[in-house]
Amino acid sequence: MNDRRNPSVNISKDTSRVFVFAFALILPFALLGCPSNSNKPVDTSSSPTPSAKSASDFDGNRAFEYVKKQVEFGPRPAGSAELEKTRGYLIDHLKSFGLRVTTDEFHPVTPIGDRRMVNITAELPGESNDVIIISSHYDTKYFKDIKFVGANDGGSSTGALMELARVMAAQKQKQKLTYWFVFFDGEEAFCLDWDECTNPNPADPKNRLPDHTYGSRHYVARLIEQNELRRVKALILLDIVGYKDLQFGRPEELSARWMIDTVWQTAKKLGYGQQFVDRAEGIGDDDHQPFLRAGIDSLDIIQLSTYSRYWHTQEDTLDKISPNSLKIVGDVVLTSLPKIEERIMSKR
Ligand SMILES: [Zn+2]
Repeated sequence: MNDRRNPSVNISKDTSRVFVFAFALILPFALLGCPSNSNKPVDTSSSPTPSAKSASDFDGNRAFEYVKKQVEFGPRPAGSAELEKTRGYLIDHLKSFGLRVTTDEFHPVTPIGDRRMVNITAELPGESNDVIIISSHYDTKYFKDIKFVGANDGGSSTGALMELARVMAAQKQKQKLTYWFVFFDGEEAFCLDWDECTNPNPADPKNRLPDHTYGSRHYVARLIEQNELRRVKALILLDIVGYKDLQFGRPEELSARWMIDTVWQTAKKLGYGQQFVDRAEGIGDDDHQPFLRAGIDSLDIIQLSTYSRYWHTQEDTLDKISPNSLKIVGDVVLTSLPKIEERIMSKR
């Protein structure tokens, strides 16, 4: 679980994040391997326009409400009372959609001591036992000194995932595959930087455990323990998906190529080619990594480099989020799913 990748060959999340944080204003994408024309700043004069006809039942305003409510709970780091309240709110709504909700509590050691964490899974049974996971982390980063409410980082993807769950649960026809909507706890590092700290690893003292992705690493470990990992055929991770000036680069390095192609082609067909662009997005580690390492095809839809000015600052607030951006993400994911299912079923 704590397989550390060689930073010289992979841009890990900490590396890319620290890099972006430190050099965003000087060398926007130089080391991320982007074409030079992507150095242009994001056009802020025009917000994304939705297709004339809605591509899906995904309601951007409703998704925005889920984000707003989370932000109103305040900072929501793993183990906090605010996250506990958030969890109750999410679970109540997921149950009201008719989904079967299960929680999994665990107590990892972190740099600030033992923390109680809880992963949430809402299941939508399909015709097949094979599973597609759609996921987000719902904790926000712990800060000692600033009030960090994580409207985009944590809030937006969780809001979008709630609305995806609602829309899919409301569909009359059963899905071909079973869906798990998974809300990971403890994605964020407790130390300031992603790889600044590590944790003891009793099973293998020489390979210390990372200070991040607590929930997703635990999730994969549980699936292996319960012999359920083989059911999982693909994972889509949403992270930082609500910015007004929405723009995702392709997560080339650490996602399944066929999933990137499927989703980006779908976005273009829906008229969202300005939001799903062809430059590479350097991501590195995120909650999809433990799944990739376990051999599960995974995709991380994340806006990191072009959100760096607000990312992990107290400016990551609700005014940066737009219902329209959430709607675009919802439409693209929902429209991509039949193609992802098709590919999975053709591989059987
Ligand atoms: Zn974060």
